[in-house]
Amino acid sequence: MSAIEVDTTRLPLLLHELRLPAIARLWPEFAERADKEGWPAARFLSALAELELAERGRRRVERHLTEARLPPGKTLENFDFSAVPMLSKARIMALAAGDTWLEKGTNLLAFGPPGAGKSHIASAIGRALVENGYRVLFMRTTDLVQRLQQARQALQLEAALTKLDKYELLILDDLSYVHKDHAETSVLFELIGARYERRSLLITANQPFAAWDKVFPNDAMMIAAIDRLVHHAVILEMNVESYRRRGALDRKNRVSAAPPKKVKEPAPS
Ligand code: ADP
Ligand code: MG
Repeated sequence: MSAIEVDTTRLPLLLHELRLPAIARLWPEFAERADKEGWPAARFLSALAELELAERGRRRVERHLTEARLPPGKTLENFDFSAVPMLSKARIMALAAGDTWLEKGTNLLAFGPPGAGKSHIASAIGRALVENGYRVLFMRTTDLVQRLQQARQALQLEAALTKLDKYELLILDDLSYVHKDHAETSVLFELIGARYERRSLLITANQPFAAWDKVFPNDAMMIAAIDRLVHHAVILEMNVESYRRRGALDRKNRVSAAPPKKVKEPAPS
């Protein structure tokens, strides 16, 4: 007998128990190739280990993308940087790679009128960061305030804030929609304090700081919150016309600028 007989009947079960799904799926194919091409055993084993690790990384990114709750379809690839000339594409690309700013807990603050593309760029940066191995959570600020307020009522605010620590970046979309009359917004203040110099926030707002007195319960809290947010922050000014409205205007202009339709000449009789 030339080939050594190996009993592999238990192998699928063992690999399942060890949680090695890629190896479980791929080993028969690899074993056949290895036997045929005479691979050393070490090469066979390391090829399978590499594949398992790569697949594990992909699964983790997929899980983190689901958990991030980013609005779908808003990517850096489909963001039109020419529409926001004051935004440096190189700067955004560097931010989207992560690294030091997240480690230092630097904040990103995106300001601009409705439709300027704040949520789009926030989501696109968030997506790129997840793909680069970071954990991100995107939330409407009003929803988060509500969630934290419920936690506070249940005397669980501390635990709720700690739970958010696992996200290197927390995106708070539309801060200026939060209104102190609607909710106990001091939870927002506590969140900002809890993450200060440790974990980053990306905040989008229609209104820059001057109008934030409507967001926080009192001026002292507002000033302290802004102070902490801007201490280490990158501010993205996006003072442009609404992208949607501009699109509509462009289309309209194109139609009116188009040469008048030729009146069909009557066919010679
Ligand atoms: P904001 O959050 O500032 O109100 P959004 O990010 O929601 O604005 O943008 C409104 C719409 O226009 C979205 O569908 C978004 O994808 C699109 N949009 C805005 N700016 C751009 C841009 N520069 N390139 C591509 N799409 C954009
Ligand atoms: Mg928005």
